[in-house]
Amino acid sequence: MTDFMEIRNPVDYSVITEVENTSKKKVGDMVAISSAAFEKYSKLAPSDRAMLLRRFAELVDKNKQELAELETKNMGKPISDSLDEISGVADVFYYYSGAIDKHFGTTVPVANGLDLTLYEPIGVVGAIVPWNFPALITSWKVGPALACGNTVIIKPAEWTPLTALRLEELALEAGYDQGVIQVATGLGEETGEALLNNPLVSKISFTGSTRVGKHIMRVTAGDLKRLSLELGGKSATVVFKDADLEKAAKAQPMSVFANCGQDCCARSRLLIEEDGYDEFKELLMKEVSNVRIGDPADSSTQVGPLVSEHHKARVSWFLENLESDVKAIYQSDLYSSKGAWFPITVLETDNNKTKVVQEEIFGPVVTLMKFKDEVDAIKMANSTVYGLSGSVWTKDIGKALRVAQGIKSGTLSVNSNSSVRTSTPFGGFKESGFGKELGMEAMETYSEKKNVYISTLG
Ligand code: NAD
Repeated sequence: MTDFMEIRNPVDYSVITEVENTSKKKVGDMVAISSAAFEKYSKLAPSDRAMLLRRFAELVDKNKQELAELETKNMGKPISDSLDEISGVADVFYYYSGAIDKHFGTTVPVANGLDLTLYEPIGVVGAIVPWNFPALITSWKVGPALACGNTVIIKPAEWTPLTALRLEELALEAGYDQGVIQVATGLGEETGEALLNNPLVSKISFTGSTRVGKHIMRVTAGDLKRLSLELGGKSATVVFKDADLEKAAKAQPMSVFANCGQDCCARSRLLIEEDGYDEFKELLMKEVSNVRIGDPADSSTQVGPLVSEHHKARVSWFLENLESDVKAIYQSDLYSSKGAWFPITVLETDNNKTKVVQEEIFGPVVTLMKFKDEVDAIKMANSTVYGLSGSVWTKDIGKALRVAQGIKSGTLSVNSNSSVRTSTPFGGFKESGFGKELGMEAMETYSEKKNVYISTLG
């Protein structure tokens, strides 16, 4: 294993810096430090924990521009999106600093005594993060983990560690003791795997592909680590002909092309009611042609490059291997021949089994399909192994609710493509994983619940 890895800017593949490829031995040392830090940190008064997290949030806010520029340079995300992402990080830390003294246990009516449920921290948490929202997804894990009194080792994705490393510095500036928050940069198969196999790590919170999620579940079964798995998605938007079609068409392009399609909640399947198909498609294509692709450092850019050369090869494979019943009806011009640029692409098919409909491409590619009626729409929306997110567009509130209830996914929005809010639970059904993030639900997944019975018998 090499000791260092080059970190590149996806705009042109230029090298930004090098980071350590953390060895198994060093991960072991970090876990020991984290475990020692846990002894003190887990005993802090809730108000002290809240104060630290609040200071951390304030520092993220104060350094927002710098963090956003770092994210854009490292990941290729348009700067306006990176600024939103970093605001989201601060928001998550503020939320969980306020959650600490509101995470109540209960008293349960029992005979001859008092029965209490208490929350306790779990221990050392390994937070394994993907590259598509490097800072934000880090905060979804670090915020509730720290709020509940755990210590954390963050394993950022190999291509995008820079904002996590900066957050580690800001945590120290906020006043956290050394060892409460650490970052182990490196490869999944080495550095990540070392976390999975370390018995002093009590919980793994993983966001990434379903393939790696299944592997993590198998490996961590050995010592029954606590697990949260936020995995892949292949979400559907269902547009009924009675919807406000103009509004729906305006909203669709960025529901799949934002972050260059590298979003677990990307609505990459667009299901349109047969009778309104042609009308909606015409409105949609006008909107698609207006998407602003360009330099991610430019504040007017909506879509930048993909994250890396490796990922570009993966996305390209899908387009190079289209089955004969899939038609590409739109591809934008390529912004640049250098770097990880990829055209935004619209496909059309009536084959619900084809690869581009069933598999997560994780690029700026949407597939349009027709459905006949409500029952057909629900059946098609449910026809993949995933169940993360989705949308329904209709003016009929009863139909909206029936479809929202019929689709097996962790989040669903009506007449909107919003999936994530700091205060509401987020997570998948089926092979999109389990263990909610965000909201007060995340406090449950970073705590153990203990029951204490006190006898009142004399
Ligand atoms: P990935 O599974 O390849 O990697 C995710 C992380 O796991 C990285 O840090 C990687 O280094 C690490 N990893 C890889 N192999 C490992 C191993 N053997 N042991 C321990 N760690 C290992 O995923 P990715 O390509 O970085 O991210 C894209 C995927 O993430 C997509 O499938 C996307 O849908 C999913 N995702 C899901 C959510 C969600 O909330 N459900 C959010 C964002 C991304």
